[in-house]
Amino acid sequence: MYPVLSRRSEGISIGVNLNPDKICNFDCIYCQVDRTTQSETQFVETKQLLEELEDTLRLAASGELFDHPQFNSTPAELRRLNDIAFSGDGEPTTYRNFDEIIAACAEVKQRLGLDAVKMVLITNASMFHRPHVQRGLEILDQNNGEIWAKLEAGTEEYFKLVDRTPIPFQQILKNITAAAQVRPLVIQALFMRVSGEPPRQAELEAFCERLNEITMAGGKLKLVQVYTVARQPAESYVAPLSDAEVDAIVELVERRTGLAAKAYYGASV
Ligand code: SF4
Repeated sequence: MYPVLSRRSEGISIGVNLNPDKICNFDCIYCQVDRTTQSETQFVETKQLLEELEDTLRLAASGELFDHPQFNSTPAELRRLNDIAFSGDGEPTTYRNFDEIIAACAEVKQRLGLDAVKMVLITNASMFHRPHVQRGLEILDQNNGEIWAKLEAGTEEYFKLVDRTPIPFQQILKNITAAAQVRPLVIQALFMRVSGEPPRQAELEAFCERLNEITMAGGKLKLVQVYTVARQPAESYVAPLSDAEVDAIVELVERRTGLAAKAYYGASV
């Protein structure tokens, strides 16, 4: 359990790590999870997780959190509890009892009367076709949920270069489309410099085409978050884009797709 001040959340986000074993079915070149060392915790201790969630929610909702040295310089406009975020050191939907843990966390939130607090799932969308994940997504829908699905390529080739997974790009696109047909999704797109090179214009155009295909199939996308690497990534040949380069992608996405897009620069989290 880790409260963080999140620019993308515009307030405090309470992170729930469903992958303490650091296992992920992607191996993104920009991943910030240190997999060179083994974590001490391998399993999610459900009881402990729920108790910690309740304590942290109380602390953040009451404002007591801002007395803590780590948070006492938080600007006034960000002194709000925005969400519980399911992310952590791997892909949260690979968690075996994903639907059950989402339901249990939703119950804690309900019990504390925190209906306005969102439940954000930060995901690579690779597991949306699994029935228990779909059930988890439905529970999120009923509890002020928001799904932030990773999509940061326009072609299979670039997808494989950046996200390094055996899962086909088509599967990801299919999953995002199907989920967006049920509720509006947020797309999180991280672009970066790879060996000094920003993404090619053709790749960015293809990325916009994929977004258009999703919306043309009836998928609803409420926002495209365009961001870049903020901290030391897994591979040393990965570096952030400049603010102007991020802005140019936002402008391209808005122009080519008509979707709302927002920039988050290198220093943002
Ligand atoms: S999906 Fe997330 S956790 Fe998994 S490798 Fe990529 S950035 Fe890291």
